[in-house]
Amino acid sequence: MNDFDKTIPGGADRSEAYRRLGISDKVLSFADAVLQGLGEQFARIDAIAEYNQAKVLGAMQEHRVNATHFNPSTGYGYDDEGRDNLERVYAACFHTESALVRPQITCGTHALALALSANLRPGDELLSPVGAPYDTLEEVIGIRPSTGSLAEYGVSYRQADLREDGSFDYDAIKNAIDEKTKLITIQRSKGYATRPSFSVAQIGELIAFCKACKPDVICMVDNCYGEFVETLEPTDVGADLIVGSLIKNPGGGLAPTGGYVCGRKDLIERCAYRLTAPGLGREVGINMGMLSLFYEGLFLAPTVVQSAVKGAVFTAACYEKLGYRVVPGSGEIRRDIIQAVELGSREAMVAFCRGIQAAAPVDSYVTPEPWAMPGYDSDVIMAAGAFNQGSSIELSADGPVRPPYAVYYQGGLTWYHAKLGVLMSLQKMWEAGLVQL
Ligand SMILES: *Cc1c(COP(=O)(O)O)cnc(C)c1O
Repeated sequence: MNDFDKTIPGGADRSEAYRRLGISDKVLSFADAVLQGLGEQFARIDAIAEYNQAKVLGAMQEHRVNATHFNPSTGYGYDDEGRDNLERVYAACFHTESALVRPQITCGTHALALALSANLRPGDELLSPVGAPYDTLEEVIGIRPSTGSLAEYGVSYRQADLREDGSFDYDAIKNAIDEKTKLITIQRSKGYATRPSFSVAQIGELIAFCKACKPDVICMVDNCYGEFVETLEPTDVGADLIVGSLIKNPGGGLAPTGGYVCGRKDLIERCAYRLTAPGLGREVGINMGMLSLFYEGLFLAPTVVQSAVKGAVFTAACYEKLGYRVVPGSGEIRRDIIQAVELGSREAMVAFCRGIQAAAPVDSYVTPEPWAMPGYDSDVIMAAGAFNQGSSIELSADGPVRPPYAVYYQGGLTWYHAKLGVLMSLQKMWEAGLVQL
């Protein structure tokens, strides 16, 4: 028994509990040593969560959330007060004039496609000043030819790449903005790219620059994976629109589906007319009985994100100590919930992902294998045992099986589950003889 175990009231043996889950003492003591060094990072993450919890609670109280707001609706969904009030709560939380938060928005890509197609017209140009957008947006925009893309509707696209060091190329951005430029899309999280993720402050500087070049340009931020990681959101620093998925951060792990768009009233109205039909807009669309999950998920989101961010930092610190390259480093201030670990071999990726899977509450007995996937030029391995299919605010890991054999780790509904996932990944790596502890 180590000192840690003696502090559990009633004398329960923590090491024994972990042993029953398959974690050996060697792995546990390695992790304990790593955790000793994370006090400052964890304190910062806690302070952000505390602030955001107050922010979300304030928005709910301001809009007098009550039990009638959880009632299901049917048919057209006219006068769905719970739905309308949830949108007021989102708007209050993100400090915007308006919001659209709907189960009919099927995922993040759909929410982004909605915001773009609602606010661009033939002849307009879309600009990404932060390099290539998220994979799935290539088909939305028509960078890769695709049925129904913006390109098919006569919307053109331009991109200003980041500089070598990951910073904004202001000269290139200025050159790219002209009389056609209608909307600028900024992706906050790196997603699965190698560039850094942007802080809200950096996004604010970029928006200010773009608006100085062209005051009436619409600035939209792809907020996926970024919500509640900082105390400010892009709408606090000049973004006209933010867009995201409810099976990521703001759904708090409870929302079974859905997406949101928050921002300027006129732009959100256009989104509503595009989502349903001209003339109908936000007045129609039932809540599918999901409102209590949407409200409660938003209420939990700050602490769920706190857990996920702690898991990401802990992953970074463990694998850094073992000599692997991690992005971002364990001491860096977090901008999103994603952690990349370059594991250097196929075997290590497989062992890591098997650990994450074995730690899951759902499908823990499944063994992930690298497999060919449509749209990828190499095998892909994925580990996820989630309550909601594909939810990446729940603990998961994945990556393309090719050099540098980087695995992307994200999510964790509770810190202790995120921690167990990392412990189990270390256990599997250790059992396979890939690391020495
Ligand atoms: C996840 C994600 C998307 C797309 O969301 P889906 O729900 O997977 O369609 C877009 N942009 C970023 C940055 C993301 O992380």
